[in-house]
Amino acid sequence: MSDSTILVVEDEAAIRDMIGMSLERAGFRWFPAASVEEARATLMDHSPDLILLDWMLPGVSGLDFARQLRRDDSTRDLPVIMLTARDAEDDMIRGLESGVDDYLTKPFSPRELIARINAVLRRVAGHGDDAPITLGKLTLDPTSHRVKVGEEKLTLGPTEFRLLRYFMQHPDRVFRRDQLLDHVWGRSVYIDDRTVDVHIRRLRKALEPHGVDVMIQTVRGTGYRFSLQP
Ligand code: CA
Repeated sequence: MSDSTILVVEDEAAIRDMIGMSLERAGFRWFPAASVEEARATLMDHSPDLILLDWMLPGVSGLDFARQLRRDDSTRDLPVIMLTARDAEDDMIRGLESGVDDYLTKPFSPRELIARINAVLRRVAGHGDDAPITLGKLTLDPTSHRVKVGEEKLTLGPTEFRLLRYFMQHPDRVFRRDQLLDHVWGRSVYIDDRTVDVHIRRLRKALEPHGVDVMIQTVRGTGYRFSLQP
């Protein structure tokens, strides 16, 4: 579970940083947001695997945001763990009714936080997040790390595998190089944007003998896209 990306929506910087440190130590990538507005922008850019959502936020509350996420088709299945200082029972019930997956009352230990995140991600993975992805002739199995074109096996380096997986999870979407760096390499890694080009080249080279390298498309002036349409 630990190459998952977590969006942390929390207005108190000290708590946000503490959570971020715990996440990094457990091998997660994460993005901070201090408000629902920031969280929305981050969601568009970084498709996280799970949201840690503080209940009490300035402006739109965490609870209202959770309800909005559930109403929107593109975020309906995105797991949400609500963070709150309240522990009154009716709040808890309201939180769960708004469709959050779990609930964590402050203060909580890093160990508890990570355990809850892993539990929710495992539950979601059981519902197909780790299921093989097939697009056109290409099949990628996240569990066994196998890639096949039709019946032919493909050998990819670990970075090319993650890159292809990310593309196949988001077909027809254009990503800037820095977005790919964030997702595939992780936010804490400081490397040149051109590193992306190097790995794109390797990925295309691996796909080329099977005639599927055309799926990795350069979008001039922007970045890259995976698409079945030439
Ligand atoms: Ca708060």
